[in-house]
Amino acid sequence: MPRTYDTPHISLLYVEDEHEVRSLLTLTLELSYPELSILTAENGQEGLELFEQFRPDIVLTDLSMPVLDGIAMSAEIKKRVPETVIIALTACSDAHNLVAAIDLGINSYLLKPIDQAKLLSTITAYVNAITDAKRMALELQESHELLEQRVAERTLELSHTVALLQQENARRVQAEERMGLMAKVFEHSGEAIVITDSSNRILATNASFTRITGYHQEEVLGQEPRILKSGREAGSFYESMWETLLTNNYWQGELYGRRKQGDIFPKLLSLSVVRDSQGRIVNYIGNFTDISELKQAAQKIDYLAHHDVLTRLPNRISLKEKLATALEMAKQNDSHLAILSIDLDHFKCINDSLGHHMGDKLLSDVASRLAEGVRNFDIVARLGGDEYAVVLPQITSGTASAPIAGKIREDLSRTFHLENREVVITASIGISVFPHDGETAEELMKHADIAMHHAKATGRNNCQFFKREMNVVAQERFLLERNMRIALEQEEFLLHYQPQIDITTGRVIGVEALLRWQHPERGLIPPDTFIPLAEVTGLILPIGDWVLETACRQMLAWIAEGIPPLRMAVNLSAKQFEQETLPDTVRKIIVKTGLAPHLLELEITESAAMADPEATIRHLRKLRDMGVELAIDDFGTGYSSLSYLKLFPVNRLKIDRSFVKDLETDLDDAAIAAATIALAHKLGKEVVAEGVETEGQLSFLRDQQCDVIQGYLFSRPRSAGDISGYLRERC
Ligand code: C2E
Ligand code: CA
Ligand code: CA
Repeated sequence: MPRTYDTPHISLLYVEDEHEVRSLLTLTLELSYPELSILTAENGQEGLELFEQFRPDIVLTDLSMPVLDGIAMSAEIKKRVPETVIIALTACSDAHNLVAAIDLGINSYLLKPIDQAKLLSTITAYVNAITDAKRMALELQESHELLEQRVAERTLELSHTVALLQQENARRVQAEERMGLMAKVFEHSGEAIVITDSSNRILATNASFTRITGYHQEEVLGQEPRILKSGREAGSFYESMWETLLTNNYWQGELYGRRKQGDIFPKLLSLSVVRDSQGRIVNYIGNFTDISELKQAAQKIDYLAHHDVLTRLPNRISLKEKLATALEMAKQNDSHLAILSIDLDHFKCINDSLGHHMGDKLLSDVASRLAEGVRNFDIVARLGGDEYAVVLPQITSGTASAPIAGKIREDLSRTFHLENREVVITASIGISVFPHDGETAEELMKHADIAMHHAKATGRNNCQFFKREMNVVAQERFLLERNMRIALEQEEFLLHYQPQIDITTGRVIGVEALLRWQHPERGLIPPDTFIPLAEVTGLILPIGDWVLETACRQMLAWIAEGIPPLRMAVNLSAKQFEQETLPDTVRKIIVKTGLAPHLLELEITESAAMADPEATIRHLRKLRDMGVELAIDDFGTGYSSLSYLKLFPVNRLKIDRSFVKDLETDLDDAAIAAATIALAHKLGKEVVAEGVETEGQLSFLRDQQCDVIQGYLFSRPRSAGDISGYLRERC
């Protein structure tokens, strides 16, 4: 923008000692240059003072003056402000001053008397020059100021820019760092990452992508991720995947991928959509991991949860699941289904005699035979121990399973070669059939199991179809067991006593305690109905302790009533006898009750004694050392080795009731009874005959010199109160 400048201010100092000259010329100057400031002084000294004060641009001076002449003043002025224009007025005769004036750099000099026109034109020339110079200076200054201002502005601008130039730099560095970090994350991520453009063409992949898929980035750039498809998922899978992805901008799920080499692997895939501010799709980002190992581990866990490790057969859990599915099918097809519950006979003996290693080998060989022997859609499972199950899902009728069960039994009866041992086994099989024997897997399995136990109970090595009656029996067993526990708590058990009579004197020498159960609804229950179950469940142990203690106390009570001391015979079950703690238990009860040990007789059945003869000898010795009497019960029913019988430190043998029963009619039984008595006597033991009901039996036994007799002929087992009168009379 153009600028207008004011006329610069110019001042003139006129120094003249001649008053008249000075006044006249001053007036002339004032009139000629109204714009000039005109100062006057009458000598050099005064002139210099004014100069100091006002700094006039032009000094017009006479050279010859008093106090301080024009030369000296001019010299001072030039010293102070060299550019001051000095015009000297001098007489032409004053040559000395003139030379000095030239030396000083006085700008002009005019000779006196002054030519006014010349003076004025000289002054005008200087005034113009000074005006121009001043104007220029002003202009310069202004432009300088402007420049400075501009520079300042620019500097400010620049510094601003620099700060911006710096801020942005910092931001860029940060962004670069972030990008670098992202790139590192991208590249070093354990997950495969694939980025595609809006049309799903691959833009970038990372190292894990290459590691997992086998494809290098260059191979897949511009391609669609479909190259990784396994083909295992249905089209509908991808449809719903895309639908979710486009609505939620995210999708995650498991699917199968295909590697470059062609093999298929399971992967966990996450997909995200990247959109711009207008919501348009810019990128898709997919990241996935190979979950083969995870899957394998899960499969292994699943396998272990559903299989028996030893035989690799499905286990009980698995059987239930498979059976449920098979039942659904059978229901839909209106077909039959059979479940075979298979239990090896006497497996425990094989396991004990051959060792667990061989036992395990047998179990897995049995598994193989079962699996080989059935159709491949049949299900073979191991339920635990030596129990197996076979499900025949597609049979025309229940009876159609009979030949298959027969074949299984046949297969299992062939000799097993276990390392260098040959083993022959048999199996008991129970069968339940859908829909006849039940609707659910549980019910059918339970019924097959009941049938199997029935097969066991009927001599083993056979096959039984489930019958409703078995269920009744099984249900009774269940109820019985529960009720027995209650009975023990509620003291529903009681003892009856049956006298034992000396055959020669006819006197009572002892009693046998026989257990009864006074059931609140069913009345008095005999021991044969509940003792076997009590043995299986282990309830016989607390019951047995109770019997021992009660019997001992009863004898003491009778003695206290005045009945002479008699021997109290108490039955021990095989289970009780197996207990290593038995001698200790007996001792404790004797100590606790205070009964003389020789008044207690323990009866152990022949079969229980022979189950583990060595242990029997150990136990019996301990009991005998305590002073307790001992008897072998049910003698003749088990197979007793004579050598062991000799070693058993027992006081007497009890001939089993079954021999006594037919003594008079069955010659064999009579012979056995006679031989037993003779043998016992040879071994120094007494003989007790139980179940004596007739005089004929009595006389035979007397002839054979049997020692003690017990039976209905003398007395039925009766309650303590009922029998005490009899005891009192017959002692
Ligand atoms: P056991 O030890 O052989 O007992 C003799 C059984 O023969 C008793 O049956 C008795 O009542 C019966 N008996 C006695 N004389 C005659 C007779 O002349 N004719 C007939 N037909 N039977 C006679 P019970 O009391 O029913 O006991 C049956 C079995 O229960 C006993 O056979 C014994 O093995 C067992 N038992 C009884 N009480 C106990 C006990 O406290 N503990 C254990 N572990 N078992 C017991
Ligand atoms: Ca007995
Ligand atoms: Ca008996």
